[in-house]
This record gives sequence, C-alpha cells and structure tokens, in this order.
Amino acid sequence: MPAVAGRAVLRCLAVYEVLPMTHALPFEATVTETEPPVLPNADWIEHLPACVALLVGNTVRYANAAALRLLGAQQPGDVVGKSVQDFIHPLDLHRSLARLRHAEGGGVNPVTEIRVYTCGGEPLIVAMSSATLQLGDQTAVLASFLDMTERAAMEQQLRQTDEDFQRMMNTMQDVFYRTDAQGITRYVCPAVKNVLGYSAEEIIGLPAAAFYPDLSERDALVAEIKKHGSVHDFPGRMRRKDGVIIDISISTRALRDEQGQYAGVEGIWRDISERKALERRLEHLATFDSLTGIHNRRSVLAILEQLLQRGAPFSVLLLDLDHFKQVNDGYGHAAGDEVLSGFARIISREKRSRDFFGRLGGEEFLLILDGADEAEALQIAERLRLAVSAQALDLPGDASLALTVSIGLTQRRPDDRRTADVLVRADQALYRAKAAGRNRVCG
Ligand code: GH3
Ligand code: MG
Ligand code: MG
Repeated sequence: MPAVAGRAVLRCLAVYEVLPMTHALPFEATVTETEPPVLPNADWIEHLPACVALLVGNTVRYANAAALRLLGAQQPGDVVGKSVQDFIHPLDLHRSLARLRHAEGGGVNPVTEIRVYTCGGEPLIVAMSSATLQLGDQTAVLASFLDMTERAAMEQQLRQTDEDFQRMMNTMQDVFYRTDAQGITRYVCPAVKNVLGYSAEEIIGLPAAAFYPDLSERDALVAEIKKHGSVHDFPGRMRRKDGVIIDISISTRALRDEQGQYAGVEGIWRDISERKALERRLEHLATFDSLTGIHNRRSVLAILEQLLQRGAPFSVLLLDLDHFKQVNDGYGHAAGDEVLSGFARIISREKRSRDFFGRLGGEEFLLILDGADEAEALQIAERLRLAVSAQALDLPGDASLALTVSIGLTQRRPDDRRTADVLVRADQALYRAKAAGRNRVCG
C-alpha cells in the first residue's frame, strides 16, 4: 500500500467527506460471506480519531477502534457482523439504507446527521458520510462518522431559547425594540403592528425618529439614556400609520460595544393612550361640573386663590337664579337641570374669554372678572343680567321660561388674604340684590 494513498484517506476523513477511491485500501477485516479480498494491514486506521466502518450489504464488516468506542462495543463482535438496523434509529433507517444503496451505486453521500443507538442502547447523533469502496469483486461502503450529540444538544438548547424568545415576542403587548448607534431600528417585535399599524418589516431599517411626531422628544429620550444609561416610564408620543398620535411610555437602556462606546438602545415601549385618556377624563371630572360643563366649585375657587396669591386685580360676580325653587316645583328637577345648563350657556357665551366661570353649587355661580375694576365689572354684570332675562330658557316639551338672576359684585381689595374674604362681600352684595327685589346687580 503506497503511503500517499493513506494520506489521501486521512485528509478526506478530516473534512468528513470520503471521496470514492479506486485504490485497494489497507483493510484486514473479513468483508464478505464469500471469499473476502486479502487486504493489507489496517493499523494506521485504528489510530484515526474519526470513526470508520465498512459495510457490505446491510452488515458491518469492519469498525475501527474509534467507531467501536463510540458505539460502546466491549469487543469487535458487538458491532462487526451486525446489521446496521441494530444501530440506526427507526425514523432514520429508511433514509440511511437509501444512502447505503446510493453509495453502493458509486455515489458519495454528503455529511448528514443520523440518530443511532450504542450497543448499550444509548441514543447518539452522528454526522455521517459514506462512499463506495471496491474490494476486489465486492462492492462495499466506507462510512465515516463523528459524534454530534453534544453539539446537537447545544443547538437544541439554542433553538429552544430562540423559540422561547420568539414566542414571548409574538405574544407581547408591549413593543420590544433595538436601535443601533445611528438610531436605525434593527429589531422590533410583531406587537408593533397592533400598536402602530406598521408591520415589523416596514419599520426595521428605518430611523426610529421617523415615528416621532416631535423630533425633540426623541432627542430628549436619547440624551436621557446616554446620561443615565437607562430610562424608566419615560413619556413620549408616536405617530401611527393612520396618522393618529398616541401616548407612549418608554423603558429602555443604552447598548455599549466592546470598547464601551454607545451602540444604540434596547427596550420596550407601550401604548398608554388609554391610560392618558382616562387620566384626562378623571382630570376633567375633577375640574369641571358634570351638569353644566363649566368649572366646578373646587376648580373656580382654586383659580380665585391663585389670582389672590399673584396679587392680580380682579372683580367677582356671585350669581344666583331668582325663584329657582319654583322651576323645580313647577316643572320637576330634570327641567331645573335643563334651566341650569341653559343659564350656564348664556353666561359662558356672554362673558369675556379671559374670565373664569364656575358653579359653586345649586343655582349659585361665580364669575371672576380678570383685571376688571368696579366700573367695568358693573357694566359686564348688567350685560349678563339683561342677557339672562332676555332669553327664554327651554323646558321639556314646548314650554319655555323667562328667568332672572341676581348678582352680587365685589372687587379684590389689597387686604384680602383668603378667598373667603372676597366671597363674603360678594355674598352680602347678592343678599342686598335679593332684598332689593331681585333681577339686579348690587355692589
Ligand atoms: P331666590 O330667588 O331667593 O334665590 O329663590 P330660590 O328659589 O332660587 O332659592 P333657594 O335657595 O331657596 O332655592 C334653590 C333651589 O335650587 C333649591 C334646590 O332644590 C334647587 N337646586 C339646587 N341644586 C340643584 C340642582 O342641581 N338641580 C336642580 N334641578 N335644582 C337644584
Ligand atoms: Mg336662587
Ligand atoms: Mg340659592
């Protein structure tokens, strides 16, 4: 056996690709039931770290030491003389036998993974390649294989991790994303479709800034992340595919490369439009009167307090509907509510835009005339009084009612400390207006 042929085999085995060879190879093994060809010594192949086996038909005729070791053979007879069916997993058997026949026909089988069992019944995964080998007048198949069980387990683990990640990403309501140092979106999970209306594919590769209605908001976010390394519940807004602007909350962190340089961001953001809308509704409820839609007592008194603290000049009007009880008594409480709303609409329409109008309770209202002195306040109060008496207020059915209002007026004084100081004077003025016959303004 020339040395050059041995080296060729070693080189081929090293790349797990056994090329078809026409040379007789140094096998000592008995390869057929009929007269086996006489083969030269096979010592060197016994030292190969790769597993080598020789098959004739479906029977193993030779296995080197590495192959016997891998298959857990106590002695060569545990493998040699046995059928390949004793070792190959049933699900891979059909494919393996087809490959054997292919190799016998002169073909080379590229590396494939096959599940096998050791003599002790342990499952293994081997990477196997095979090719034909002519031994005299016998056609044999030379197979080489390598234990891939560990790698397969690792790959399985990786696949599992990857599947877990994908499953999580697919079921997430929040949007997980990653951008590079240039702000280009490199990953975004499928949930983005539900939130923004764009598919992940439409977004990946585009600058994240493209979805911000206000670029300065994105700049503020990135500046904050660069400064602190991360942000939690950072407020922002994004534009949906249909143009609607949504409120979002962002929790994200900076990514660093091996040199510690900023490499982008990774995190999640969620659509908080509903929460924001609820907050706005609650805020509205806490600020505005549910019947009339104008400021409620708490809110209008807070404004009065603010103006007092600022030392700003203002006048206030305390308005009380005349004989309102009769509306309730005559037409019912619902009609009374209608009248209250109608009255609030008239004042809201007639007041100056800078004035603050609120309902203190019942049929008592406060109008704060920002910056108005006494003369100005009187003029406005008169105009309002006339507007109310001039407009018939609709009642349920076809009925309507002419109503009048009494108004108590006062100005802010330098020694006023609390809202009550102002309100008491307004109340006294209102009392005088009522006492003087109603439908009038008193200061
Ligand atoms: P005056 O000219 O002296 O102000 O007479 P008035 O009947 O308006 O005065 P009074 O304070 O005695 O009556 C106010 C009534 O307003 C009593 C109450 O039943 C009614 N009222 C208070 N809040 C509401 C409300 O939210 N809806 C309705 N429909 N009525 C209300
Ligand atoms: Mg009244
Ligand atoms: Mg009253």
